[in-house]
Amino acid sequence: ECVQVTTKDQNYDVFIGTEMLAEAWILCDNKVKQADHIFVFTDQSVWAAQQSYFEKNFDYPFDVFIFPGGESSKTFEQYELAQTFLLQQNATRQSLIIAFGGGAIGDVTGFVAATYMRGIPFIQVPTTILAHDSAVGGKTAINHSLGKNMIGAFYQPQAVIYDTHLLKTLPTREVRSGMAEVVKHAYLSDEQWLATLLHESQQITPSLNHHLKRGIEVKAAIVSQDETEQSVRKYLNLGHTYGHAVEAAAGYGKLAHGEAIMIGLVFTLLLSETYGDISHEDTLQFVQYALRNDYPLDAIHDYPFDQLANYLMKDKKVEYGELKFVLLKVIGQPIVQTITLEECRIVDAKLRAIIR
Ligand code: NAD
Ligand code: ZN
Repeated sequence: ECVQVTTKDQNYDVFIGTEMLAEAWILCDNKVKQADHIFVFTDQSVWAAQQSYFEKNFDYPFDVFIFPGGESSKTFEQYELAQTFLLQQNATRQSLIIAFGGGAIGDVTGFVAATYMRGIPFIQVPTTILAHDSAVGGKTAINHSLGKNMIGAFYQPQAVIYDTHLLKTLPTREVRSGMAEVVKHAYLSDEQWLATLLHESQQITPSLNHHLKRGIEVKAAIVSQDETEQSVRKYLNLGHTYGHAVEAAAGYGKLAHGEAIMIGLVFTLLLSETYGDISHEDTLQFVQYALRNDYPLDAIHDYPFDQLANYLMKDKKVEYGELKFVLLKVIGQPIVQTITLEECRIVDAKLRAIIR
């Protein structure tokens, strides 16, 4: 199965299926065959878990560059090491890089590809659930000590090959974290789909492919309309304004991104009860789903509102001291609403009261 992504620079396919890696290469045959040299960029854990599967399903000669994994792959130092590697290997503009890993590997590899000789082709082969999100949309980046994802470029891959067989070795916590973005995509899109999703338990089963494909469709539709975040792309921040504040207050890494986003989604739903037509029952049902799937919502009690407020006010979306929140008019219908910090404090108190 395949989802088309259209952007100004480039149109490309996102192939999705289980154990279709070998077939998918045939579909992107030209891109692969035309390359004068193929490089696989991955991280230690992904390579340890999936090297043999990759080699079994990829029939071309390649050289591999291994990042340490997670956020420590997205540093200036690793960026430079990767560029040095490409130079030493005499990579040219006709070479191809394959990003084989999660969002971190996709982000740093995409930025290396965007900037090596002013841009060489790359293909994403995502290995996490979260990467159904990060592999689509063309955002690439590394981190600066003063801010996450602060150095980067918009740069589209030639193709995305999402073989969900690769997800089978993903740690449970990464499954949980990635599913938060799938749930977000459902809230942005469709009530029926959301209901199905919230009724299922989180497992790597064939029905997951369907959810991931729908998630990719939602993301692809939004970024096709607004590549550079001038308009509708900001809807993708649903749950993220408050979620990012929680993530930052915890210290990056202490809560998985998706774990913080689930708390952010609860906040968004409570806010949507006031400004939209979301019922309190909907919110409570979502909280039940989160608890059933072991999201540590109660972590919120470790971070008092005043601490979150500092981070909220630093959000990129703050204008003249007013916070802009994406919330839901109804499920599938996001809107942007200006909220004062005092309103946030009231909703924050409601959130703390329903999560014990
Ligand atoms: P990740 O790439 O760090 O992967 C999470 C962990 O799982 C890592 O330790 C990795 O080694 C391991 N792993 C990955 N796949 C595995 C597999 N199949 N089997 C075993 N272990 C595996 O993280 P992620 O959650 O995929 O992505 C998070 C990153 O994505 C962040 O850096 C975030 O900034 C970025 N992101 C980017 C965008 C975008 O639009 N570009 C969007 C959202 C998030
Ligand atoms: Zn996110």
